[in-house]
Amino acid sequence: MAKTREEITGPARVRFAPSPTGNLHVGGARTALFNWLIARNTGGQFVLRIEDTDRERSTPESEAQILRAMEWLGLDHDEELVRQSERGDRHRAAVDKLLESGAAYEAWENEEELEQMRAAARADKRAPVVRGRRNHTDDEIAAFRSEGREPVTRFAVSQADDAAVEFTDYVRGTVRFAHDQIEDFVIARSDGTPTYNLAAAVDDTEMEISHVVRGEDHLSNTPKQILVMRALGGSEPRYAHIPLIAGPDKKRLSKRHGAASVEELRDAGYLPKTVINSLALLGWSYDDKTTMLSVEELIEHFSIARVSKSPAVFDLAKLDKMNGRYLRLMPDDEFTEVLLEHLERSGYLAEHGPDPAETVRVAAPLVKRKISRLNEYDDLAGWLHRDLEMQPEAWEQITADTKHSIQVIGAGLGRLQSVEPFEVDPIREALSDELHILGEAARDFLEPQRIVITGQTISTGIYESLAALGKEESLNRYRSAMGKLAELWSDA
Ligand code: GLU
Repeated sequence: MAKTREEITGPARVRFAPSPTGNLHVGGARTALFNWLIARNTGGQFVLRIEDTDRERSTPESEAQILRAMEWLGLDHDEELVRQSERGDRHRAAVDKLLESGAAYEAWENEEELEQMRAAARADKRAPVVRGRRNHTDDEIAAFRSEGREPVTRFAVSQADDAAVEFTDYVRGTVRFAHDQIEDFVIARSDGTPTYNLAAAVDDTEMEISHVVRGEDHLSNTPKQILVMRALGGSEPRYAHIPLIAGPDKKRLSKRHGAASVEELRDAGYLPKTVINSLALLGWSYDDKTTMLSVEELIEHFSIARVSKSPAVFDLAKLDKMNGRYLRLMPDDEFTEVLLEHLERSGYLAEHGPDPAETVRVAAPLVKRKISRLNEYDDLAGWLHRDLEMQPEAWEQITADTKHSIQVIGAGLGRLQSVEPFEVDPIREALSDELHILGEAARDFLEPQRIVITGQTISTGIYESLAALGKEESLNRYRSAMGKLAELWSDA
């Protein structure tokens, strides 16, 4: 029987620690969500730490974008956010303390010497890890300085036989890194700025983080951070490394898979609840069959013990399907409001006059049946907002058999002229009756009607589309199509 895995119990104090060097993408958002769910589910705290120590790559725009994306997702953080760059004094104090105690040293090797060291280790069949020379005479140091060298600070990984860092990971079980696999990693650069491993270790301890939940790509950083914490005598959090995310082809998720940023997903017209629900299923499942879970249900059921070790698959096609289901579950008026908000943000309303919102209100319930992303609105109902624009492939479809098209469109026109009131039910009745009389296959009869009024092969339902367009304009479009078809026929 499978061993039951450990659960996170008690109020967990967790953090999300993004580097503001780009947009919030699927992977980062999933990490944020898992932490948030753990905090909310254990009655703990979710703190946000912006890891902006890389001055060249960090930008205020990225930070703002990450915050906006989190807000849109509803991932609210507790306490004032912490910027790592504002904690420089704490980091420098830690580096000094490590230097004083001998847990760290100034290393003077240049790139060439480091490369020789790695090559020698490889030739010896050892891991190509860097060990700097830990002691230098004052004369040697003076000589390095006169050459223009500046030292970095490296952590002195103890080389005692069998030394290893071991920790219990909620997802991966016992994880062990032998010291001879861990290099004397840099904790401060030659300009004195701390590296990620130093800053993260100091901050996790000082911010009293109880659980560090992050992507598996950080697994090899964990022993280094633990060494720093132990050398500083601070408390250690527990760790959970969550699985990597792959695309449907099982390759590591990248832009190629359409793995967009959270804001791109928003702009494509996915609902926050779809994105949250899908992110939650990246490496976690409730019971192997339930896929639609509300945020409240996720908070209630999320469990680190059910997070898998194997890579999770992010599939936009599944996202589309789930989003369509969520949209269809909305009452019409709620859907209309969400759609209007989307079209407002994207500038669609501003580009379509004179009263586009009115048309959207009419079209929304029709669109709701077919739409999977809000940005598909124009494909389905854009034709209602403009004069007829016949798409070439749609015209080709009705002119493939002009004679037949004249017949069915003419019959449609004949019936529609007398439909009163021009509403969905009477329209359906009239066209169904005609279909029956002609003995046509439904598709062969109805598709040309759709093309005549929408100019396209895909749209909202035909009866609803006719009612939405109104009698006068519908009949105009029929007459114009009949005119063109008749011309084609007489030329033939
Ligand atoms: N700033 C790191 C990142 O964005 C954080 C890693 C961590 O959670 O410690 O990958």
